[in-house]
Amino acid sequence: MSDPAFYSCARCPAYCCSYAHIPVNERDLRRLARGHGISIEKARKNFTKRGDDETPRVMRHRDDEIFESTCIFLDPETRGCTTYESRPTACRQYPGTVRCGYYDFLASERGRFDEDDLVITAWIADTDDEDEDDD
Ligand code: SF4
Ligand code: SF4
Repeated sequence: MSDPAFYSCARCPAYCCSYAHIPVNERDLRRLARGHGISIEKARKNFTKRGDDETPRVMRHRDDEIFESTCIFLDPETRGCTTYESRPTACRQYPGTVRCGYYDFLASERGRFDEDDLVITAWIADTDDEDEDDD
């Protein structure tokens, strides 16, 4: 039996999809390409950009009203993933524990302000948000 999860992605604006470095490996690229019916090279160019030494390819971002920017596959209205079946491994594994730190914080603030729809736009400082080459 799987562990219970103490978070609800359905009640969250998808903070994790706003991470600057969402890693994409070769297997992820093959899956994305297959899912979208395009070549691996086209998936690499259209969906990813250069990252850093640790994560050489990362998901491309686009502007977002809540978090300034998110992965290009996040639906800005539903806050759901539009490539769920072909999402990268990092997304499949996140948060990797029965708790999500952002959701814990969100739930606590929602309780404190008695607002079920409260959205927290900043949580912990993202140290990886320097400008990157976009190719
Ligand atoms: S931040 Fe946590 S609760 Fe929100 S979508 Fe990501 S994993 Fe789910
Ligand atoms: S691929 Fe989907 S789950 Fe992964 S970061 Fe992008 S929108 Fe979020």
